[in-house]
Amino acid sequence: MTGYLSVSNAVHGVNDKATIVAVSKFHPYEAVMDAYNEGARIFGENRVQEMREKFPPKGERPEGMKVFLIGQLQRNKVRKAIEWADRIESVDSLPLIEKIENECISLGSDIDILLEFNSSGEENKSGFRTEEELLDASEHIKNCPHIHLLGIMTVGPLGGDEEKNRIAFSRTRELYLTLKDRNPSVSVLSMGMSGDWQTALEYGSDEVRIGTAIFGERK
Ligand SMILES: *Cc1c(COP(=O)(O)O)cnc(C)c1O
Repeated sequence: MTGYLSVSNAVHGVNDKATIVAVSKFHPYEAVMDAYNEGARIFGENRVQEMREKFPPKGERPEGMKVFLIGQLQRNKVRKAIEWADRIESVDSLPLIEKIENECISLGSDIDILLEFNSSGEENKSGFRTEEELLDASEHIKNCPHIHLLGIMTVGPLGGDEEKNRIAFSRTRELYLTLKDRNPSVSVLSMGMSGDWQTALEYGSDEVRIGTAIFGERK
């Protein structure tokens, strides 16, 4: 592992409450297994195809190993995503929600999801653009029995500006608390990456998604 944060520090030292998603995109399965052997259990991948090529199917993975999809999901890849991922953290539109429910029905399976919030307002970021849109989507999910809504995911602003991070994380936390009020099953606030996870934890994040700090730079 070439990152500066050892897996055991990441898994046991970030804090007692937060879950670590070790983001293994662009890194080979050998790196995944190195991290697994040091204690990492949950991995994050951005693309459906890379996830399916790298990880064994559900049920054939080493004990406790899970894979979360964290990158933008195209509608034509939903079926393939549901088959492989233990959770989809990047759900960002109503049509995508409808497609997920329909594919779950056809596959006879359920899926855990997070709704992604564009907390920085950056144009090129995915995620729901307003609080209202995300909350509307969460109401719609109440009619989708195969989709289990667990919470919210956000990617902080580009550039690592501390003040901007705080504004984005604080806004996401407010939205999370509103969502939780309306949905008792909601319990996951996923925010914080290699450059900003300490700040995210201050705003109540209970899941950080860390790639570079564990695996080193991506090629
Ligand atoms: C790549 C990625 C991460 C991890 O980023 P690092 O800066 O390498 O820690 C986390 N979340 C999402 C959605 C990503 O695409």
